[in-house]
Amino acid sequence: MVTYRITQRENTFLNQRKETKLYLHLKKWLEIAVLDYEMIQENDRVLIGVSGGLDSFALLDLLSTPMLYLPHFEVVAFHVEPGFDPEYAGLATLDGFLASRRCEYHLKKTDIGLVAHSQVNRKNPCFLCSRLRRKYIFEAAEEYGCNKIAFAHHKDDIIETLLINMFYGREISTMVPNQPVFSGRYHLIRPLAYIREDLVKKYARESHFPVIQSKCPTEPVSRRAYIKKLLDTLEKDNKDIRENIFKSMRHVKPDYLLKPEKHVIGGTSKTSASCEEA
Ligand code: SF4
Repeated sequence: MVTYRITQRENTFLNQRKETKLYLHLKKWLEIAVLDYEMIQENDRVLIGVSGGLDSFALLDLLSTPMLYLPHFEVVAFHVEPGFDPEYAGLATLDGFLASRRCEYHLKKTDIGLVAHSQVNRKNPCFLCSRLRRKYIFEAAEEYGCNKIAFAHHKDDIIETLLINMFYGREISTMVPNQPVFSGRYHLIRPLAYIREDLVKKYARESHFPVIQSKCPTEPVSRRAYIKKLLDTLEKDNKDIRENIFKSMRHVKPDYLLKPEKHVIGGTSKTSASCEEA
């Protein structure tokens, strides 16, 4: 475990922050989502999964700046380095970025990316990769005394996951904004649940967050990338398609869906688990 602890380090970025219209908009919708789903309580310790992507930098930034309506809580940033690059080239940039924030942070070097792409696991690297990453994240939550684990999944991720689970998992489900795990010992929370990806990315650019290129060979051809492209295509004919899918998850009419199978003849059953791509 590679561990760094930063205390009271001068943070020039935070001190020079300009409260732009976009920043205020994102803070507003983040706080609304957190309140709607009761994601954070007084004195929680929130472990933020920082993947090194712009979304995770935006989440860290928005959660570690002053809140209007949320109670006091602490944040701990945690990064699992998947090991695609034997030189860990992006790690120094990430370390520099995290060191500039006013929060405790920890980095863990692993080989989960290589394991997930090894000969024994050719079929669905994302499934194993996500599983292994989650294992390290839960261990970190335990070690650093965190009861909440925040992921940077935004509204587009929630929409895409619904379709991934329908297309490949044969079920209607998605990532929920507040999910208790291990009998409520931890909660997985998604404070960006109400925010569209384009705004998160725009904010990251406006804030000059560093860009760390992913070295994962699966990322450009993952199921998520496929669904994203599909939605982009459909959006050309119907610009509201993503919003409509998101809103449809709040208007479920069980009476107009099918009943579970009663009689199974010949043994056809579900073959793939719901996708856990992060
Ligand atoms: S796309 Fe993401 S989840 Fe899938 S293998 Fe690559 S790093 Fe892991």
